[in-house]
Amino acid sequence: MNVMDIFETMEYGPAPESATPALQWIKEHQPFGLFINNQWVASASGQYLESINPANGKPLAQVAAANSADVDAAVAAARAAFESWSKTPGHVRARSMYAIARHIQKHSRLLAVLESLDNGKTIRETRDLDIPLVARHFYYHAGWAQLMSSELPGFEPVGVVGQIIPWNFPLLMLAWKIAPALAMGNTVVLKPARYTSLTALKFAEIVQEVGLPAGVVNILTGEASQVGEALVRHPGVNKIAFTGSTDVGRNIRRATAGSGKKLSLELGGKSPFVVFDDADLDSVVEGVVDAIWFNQGQVCCAGSRLLVQEDVADSLISKLRVRMEKLRLGDPLDKVVDMGAIVSPGQLKEIQRLVAQGVEEGADMWQPSWACPTEGYFFPPTLFTNVSPATTIAQVEIFGPVLVSMTFRTPAEAVALANNTRYGLAASVWSENINLALDVAPKIKAGSVWINCTNMFDASSGFGGYRESGFGREGGKEGLYEYVRPAWEARERSKQASTTNGAATAGGKALHGTQPVISGDDDEQANGHNVWRAGGENGVIAALPPIDRTPKMFIKGKQVRPDSGYSRDVVDPQQRVIGQVGDGNRKDVRNAVEAAHAASGWAAGTTHNRAQILYYIAENLEIRENEFARRIVQQTGRPLADAYEEVQAAISRLFSYAAWADKYEGVIHRPPLRGVVLAMNEAIGVIGMACPDEYPLLGFISLVAPAIAMGNTVVVIPSQRSPLSATDCYQVFETSDLPDGVVNIVTGERDALCQVLADHEDVDAMWYFGSADGSKQVELASAGNMKRTWVNYGHARNWLDTEQSEGEEFLRESTQVKNIWVPYGE
Ligand code: NAD
Ligand code: MN
Repeated sequence: MNVMDIFETMEYGPAPESATPALQWIKEHQPFGLFINNQWVASASGQYLESINPANGKPLAQVAAANSADVDAAVAAARAAFESWSKTPGHVRARSMYAIARHIQKHSRLLAVLESLDNGKTIRETRDLDIPLVARHFYYHAGWAQLMSSELPGFEPVGVVGQIIPWNFPLLMLAWKIAPALAMGNTVVLKPARYTSLTALKFAEIVQEVGLPAGVVNILTGEASQVGEALVRHPGVNKIAFTGSTDVGRNIRRATAGSGKKLSLELGGKSPFVVFDDADLDSVVEGVVDAIWFNQGQVCCAGSRLLVQEDVADSLISKLRVRMEKLRLGDPLDKVVDMGAIVSPGQLKEIQRLVAQGVEEGADMWQPSWACPTEGYFFPPTLFTNVSPATTIAQVEIFGPVLVSMTFRTPAEAVALANNTRYGLAASVWSENINLALDVAPKIKAGSVWINCTNMFDASSGFGGYRESGFGREGGKEGLYEYVRPAWEARERSKQASTTNGAATAGGKALHGTQPVISGDDDEQANGHNVWRAGGENGVIAALPPIDRTPKMFIKGKQVRPDSGYSRDVVDPQQRVIGQVGDGNRKDVRNAVEAAHAASGWAAGTTHNRAQILYYIAENLEIRENEFARRIVQQTGRPLADAYEEVQAAISRLFSYAAWADKYEGVIHRPPLRGVVLAMNEAIGVIGMACPDEYPLLGFISLVAPAIAMGNTVVVIPSQRSPLSATDCYQVFETSDLPDGVVNIVTGERDALCQVLADHEDVDAMWYFGSADGSKQVELASAGNMKRTWVNYGHARNWLDTEQSEGEEFLRESTQVKNIWVPYGE
C-alpha cells in the first residue's frame, strides 16, 4: 500500500495498547485472595473462579471464591473498623480519600488496561472515561468528607454497608459506591461482579498503599449465590447499596424487608432517545453512537429506544446506517476501535436470543456489512426499524448494542411513547428549540434527562432512577443521604429500648396498643363523662351533644360511601363508641388511587399556588380549633390543653410546608463541561400513606402537608384507632380550594388497606407509620413495582418535636431529583 492508497481508503492502522504491564501485575498476584482487614486472605472454601478475557475467551486470572464464612469475617472487620472510622474527623477522612484519588491517577493506565482486558470494553473508553470519572468521584467526595460536619449537621453514618455492583462499569461502580460511603464515615464490604473483579482487586492494593485503616474497605470476590445473598441477609450489615438488574433488585428488596436495613437500588432501564424534526441530525447520529454503542450497549442508561419525529425518520435512519457501516469493532486494546467485546458468552447468547425474537415479532433488523471477529464474544451494532411499541424488543432491556426505533408525530405523542416503559432511568431530548426541549424534559419520567447530549456523568450530579429503575441517588449532595441517618433516631431508639415498647407498636389490633397517658387531674375524663372545657382552664363546661355522624370516604373531593356498606366503631380509651367510620376495602383504595392519578395536574401548578392553599387549610383549621381540640380529647382522653397544643402544632406545620412549598428548590451543578445541570426536585407522583396512631391530627397533617406541598397527590389511611380528626378535615379541605383528588382518605383497617396500596402498580411511594410487622409487609409488597418506601419499623417518633417530625427529611421523601443536562455552545 502506498501513500496514495492510504489517502483513498483513509484506513486506520492498528494502534495497540500493550497488555504487558497488566498481565505482569496479574501474574505477580495470582491466585488472588480476598481483601479483608487490609490483608489478602484465602477464601474459607479454598476455591477459585476463573476470570476470562472476553475478547479472546481465554483465562486471565484466578480469583478467590468467597462464601458466607468469608462474609462473616469481612463484616466483623468492617464493624470493628467502624468504631474508629465513624469518629475520625472529616478532614482526616478527606485526606485519605484525596490520597485514593491521587493513587488512581498514578495507576490510571494499569487500571484502564486491566478493565479493558477483564470486561472487553475498549481502552478508549476505560482510559478516557471510566478511570478519570473514578478519580473525579473520589476527589469530589473527599470534599464532602471535609464538609460533612458543617453541611450535614444532625446526621451520622449508617454503619457497615454491603455493596454489590455489576460488571458493565466495574471500577466506576465501585467508586460510586465506596466514595460516598467513606466520606460519610461508613465502612464497607463490597462484592464485585463475577466476571470483572480485577480492577476492584487493584483498588484494594491502593487502599493498602494509601494506608486507609484496616477494615474500612473489604472486598470479596465470588458468586452471587455465595457472597451476594449472604451479604444481603447478614444481620451485621446496616445498609445495602446495589446496582444491577431489576429482578435481582426486587429480590433484595424482599430479602431486606422489615430488617431496618437502609437500601438503595440502581436498576435497569430502557431509556428513550427523542429526536424532534428540528434537531441537528448529524449531531444526533453521533449522539446515537454514544447512546447505544458506547460500552457495546451494556449501559443501564443506554439510549436504547430511538423515538424520531416522523418527517425526519427516513433521513435519520439512512444517515445512521452510513455511520454504522463505519463503526470499528475489534480488539478492545486497539486504540482506534469503537466497540469491543460482550462481557460473557451468557450475555452474548441473551442478546442473540432477544434479537431473534425481534425478527420473529416482525420488526426489520439491520446490521452493517462487515463481519465481527470470530474469536471472543462480539456482537455487531444492530438497528431495528418498524418496531411496534408493545413488542419485547421495545420493552425489555437488551443490554447489548441493539437499538430499536419508532416514530411519533407530536411532542405529546413523543412524551407518551417515552414514558411507555416500566423503567425511568434516563432520557435524551434532541431539538434546536430550547423551549421545546425544556418543556419536554420535566414531562419524561426519568432521573437524568440529557438535552442535545447523552450518557453524561459527573460526581456532582446525582444519578438514579424513577419507577422500576430503582430508588436512591449516587452523586451530588442527594447521594450522601443514602449513607447517613438522622442522629436523633439512635438517641430516640435507645430511649425507647430502656422503657417498654413504644407507643407506635400498636399494630392491626390498634385498640389494644399502648394508650397515651391520661393525666390524673382531669376529673371529668376520669369520671367518664362526655364533657369538655371550652377555651382552656377558665372556660365554660358544657355537655357534648351525642355524635351521630358517619364520615364517608373522601375521594376525588367528594364524600362517598364505603364500597363495603359496612362501618367500624371508633371508641374512646374507655372503649365507649364515639363515632363510626366507613370500613374501606380494596375497591375504595382503587378508586382513591385513580382519583389521585387524575389530579396529577397539581404537580404542574405553581409552587406559589400550593403554598396559598396550605395557608388556607391552616386558616380554616384555626377557625375550627375548638372543635378539633375537643375531638382529640374525645378520641385519646388526653387533657384539653394537650389537644390544643396538638391543633396549634398542626397549624404551625401547615405554615412550615406552605413556607417550604416555594423554597425547597433544586440546585444548578457545574460539572466539568460547558453547560449546566439543573437538579430539580420533582414530585414522586401518588403517595400512599398510613398515619400514626399517636397524634390523630398532627400525625395526619405531618404526612399530608409536605407531600402535597411538593406536588404529590395522596391516598391517606388515617389512624385506625383515632380516625375522626382526619375525617373532620374533609370540610376544611372542601373550603380551602384544594383541588379534587389531591388528598383522598380511606378509613378502615390500616394494615389491610396498606397491603392493597403497596400492591398497587399505580402508587409510586408508600409511607407507613405503624407496627414493625406492618412495615415489613409494606416493604415486601412494594417490591412489585419497586415503589419507594418510608416506614418506621414500629419505632415511634415524637410528632411534636420539629427536629424529628418536620422539615427536610419529609421534603426529601416527597421528592425525587431529576438532573437535566444542558450543554452550551454551537
Ligand atoms: P445482576 O443483577 O445480575 O448482578 C449485579 C450484581 O449482583 C452482581 O455482582 C451479582 O453477582 C450480584 N447478584 C446477583 N444475584 C444476587 C442476589 N440474589 N443477591 C445478591 N447479589 C446478587 O446484573 P448484571 O448482569 O451484573 O448487570 C446488568 C444490570 O445492571 C442491568 O440490568 C443494568 O441495567 C444494571 N445496571 C444499572 C446501573 C444503574 O446505575 N442503574 C448501572 C449499571 C448496571
Ligand atoms: Mn473477565
